[in-house]
Amino acid sequence: AHSLDGKTVVVTAAAQGIGRASVLAFAAAGATVHATDINEAALAELNGQKGIVTRKLDVLSDDAVKAAFAEIGRVDALFNCAGFVHSGSILEMKDEDLDFAFNLNVRAMIRTIRAVLPGMLERGGGAIINMASVAGAPKGVPNRFAYGVTKAAVIGLTKSIAADYVARGIRCNAICPGTVESPSLESRMRAQGDYEAARAAFISRQPMGRLGTAEEIADLAVYLAGATYTTGQAYNIDGGWSI
Ligand code: NAD
Repeated sequence: AHSLDGKTVVVTAAAQGIGRASVLAFAAAGATVHATDINEAALAELNGQKGIVTRKLDVLSDDAVKAAFAEIGRVDALFNCAGFVHSGSILEMKDEDLDFAFNLNVRAMIRTIRAVLPGMLERGGGAIINMASVAGAPKGVPNRFAYGVTKAAVIGLTKSIAADYVARGIRCNAICPGTVESPSLESRMRAQGDYEAARAAFISRQPMGRLGTAEEIADLAVYLAGATYTTGQAYNIDGGWSI
């Protein structure tokens, strides 16, 4: 992977799971990383680590996003990692869940990108990485209507930004993970009642026979932050789920 020495990276949803692993991976690659999340207590565990600055940021708030990026200043790479998984089919879904999913999974990315893009354009370069999922455009997944709709929208958003700014030094790519071990996946498994059965079901849809790790996804985020010849792509990283 490319060195990120001297680069500034902002990560949303950085307190746990893939976001947190990515913060550590970006810092290990030499970047200064602004780790942002609403969970200040969990974020605090990253405090004081080399290259890492933590900051409370609710990506649902326009004002908070504008203020945070104005203070941070130069951003070389932005990793939009925030997202929420709703369960249920179209007939089970509540409208407020769809609104929330669009607001967090899609509009939050639009907010942060609007905040960083003018500066990136002024400096003639920048990398934007958006968290999508194999659930959505790469694959239709049962019981994930609001999630699939919004994660598919992330890929459209990604390609649209890539197309508009490809000649001006901006690269925008999406990451589409399969099933990845994380605190929220743990709670989804626990919420199903029979934890062992839920875990076995998640593993059985991964042809490699195991869940992915947050570190494996973080590797791809670091690659995409430093890569120079790829834009507008949705990268499946899914243990073979989408083969
Ligand atoms: P997670 O779901 O366990 O953690 C999410 C983090 O987001 C938490 O720290 C939470 O505090 C933060 N957050 C929630 N609302 C926020 C807000 N308004 N502003 C800022 N931060 C907020 O982590 P994960 O499972 O690694 O998921 C991270 C991303 O990866 C999500 O977008 C998810 O959809 C996507 N993803 C996860 C998997 C998986 O299997 N874990 C698979 C595909 C895609």
